Amino acid sequence: MTLYFLIGSQDLYGEETLRQVEQDGREMVDSLNKVLPDHIRLIQKPVIATSDDCRQSCTEAQADRDCIGVVVWMHTFSPAIMWIYGLQILRKPILHLHTQKNEKLPYDSIDMDFMNLNQSAHGDREFGFMCTRMGICREVLSGYYQNPDVIEGIRRFACAAEAVAFSAGLRVAMFGSNMRDVAVTDGDRVESQIRYGWNVNYYGIGDLTDLIAQVGTEQIDSKMAEYAGRYDCSLTDLAPVREQAAYEVALEEFLRRERIGAFTDTFQDLHGMRQLPGLAVQNLMAKGIGFGPEGDYKTGALMAVLCRMAQGRPGATAFLEDYTYDLTAGQELELAAHMLEVCPVFAAGKPRIEVHPLGIGGKEPPARLVFDGIAGDGIAVSMVDMGDRFRLICAKIRLVTPPQPMPALPVARVMWQILPDFGTGTAAWIYAGGAHHAVVSTALDTEDIRLFAKMTGTELVTIDEHTTKAGIEQQLALLDLLARRG
Ligand code: MN
Repeated sequence: MTLYFLIGSQDLYGEETLRQVEQDGREMVDSLNKVLPDHIRLIQKPVIATSDDCRQSCTEAQADRDCIGVVVWMHTFSPAIMWIYGLQILRKPILHLHTQKNEKLPYDSIDMDFMNLNQSAHGDREFGFMCTRMGICREVLSGYYQNPDVIEGIRRFACAAEAVAFSAGLRVAMFGSNMRDVAVTDGDRVESQIRYGWNVNYYGIGDLTDLIAQVGTEQIDSKMAEYAGRYDCSLTDLAPVREQAAYEVALEEFLRRERIGAFTDTFQDLHGMRQLPGLAVQNLMAKGIGFGPEGDYKTGALMAVLCRMAQGRPGATAFLEDYTYDLTAGQELELAAHMLEVCPVFAAGKPRIEVHPLGIGGKEPPARLVFDGIAGDGIAVSMVDMGDRFRLICAKIRLVTPPQPMPALPVARVMWQILPDFGTGTAAWIYAGGAHHAVVSTALDTEDIRLFAKMTGTELVTIDEHTTKAGIEQQLALLDLLARRG
């Protein structure tokens, strides 16, 4: 993957100045490439001194499938009129890096030549005006390019841009449809493809059960060995676990064959299956495969995208469901889980494989992983369909170790506190229409989601330490007003 580095100047300064701009850019690119993730390279394009230069580089960036976005910086003044054609062509994520080649001013030697060469304070404002005038969405990042905060900002942008590129090719399989009568898990699949590139398709559960029937004993043995390496299991009857192993082998084959990156299932459509997929889904999620239960394709797709954004960073990212609370005043805690499918990336210790009956679905007791969740700062991200637009709700949460054992609860559990406090945070989430399904991450933060929302043109509501009820109500009212104006 590459990011194009476009450096703005103009042809009034002469060849020598443009050569210096080019050379400074090369040093900056070499320096930044040492600190970007290994699989993302910054590529310097010829210095942009004319409208044609600009159009050429922007056309190349747009056509290059390996290019996930562009970084733009005005070394000198660069008249913004010449950027219009290029900006009209460019539809990839833009990072406007507001920086300088020099960190400090050379107070003893500064002269007019130096000022003319190093005037991003001037040139970047000119460029910024044109972007704002044209309504061009971009991220602005200010500071010396070797400053750790700026480097982190560039890395963050690169990861978000890569996730957007991944999103644009993501295929999602729905085994069965949305759970009957449930609203928030549903969505406009056509709009999902237009906005995010998600190609979401329905498959009959028979497509999967055919594959399950073909899974051989050796494949199941091999999957069981994988489970033995990752999880504790003290069961004497392994038949229910082998059933899940067959499901996972079949799912892996299906996902590979159909090039699927995320999937959903529903307990209401398990014809021909003996169990609801539990352990099989949990183990797949741990590999970054997106999953949404009850036909929730939005959560499944969002999970795959956010897992991609988080790759290489420490922390856990996966789907979770809001379930129940400890409402002790001032110490309120949420218990998040699911019927079965909680991703083991959240496990504080080694998960145990257990088999218990499931109250709904009318199937045999499924094998699942049981564990207590990790502690740490994180976010919960929910995507809802407002009818005329999608909305992302991103809440800061603090994951906590469960205060007491829950020996009778046969599923994995993760506990957290929402910011700024239980009353404000949950009310804000509910006012915003946030679902009971979310992608939870301790690897990403609100800034990552802000970038993703911006790059995809998605409405974003953030709930954090600054949230108030009055503020969130006002923000939601304004968002509705904006949407009505189209
Ligand atoms: Mn659910």
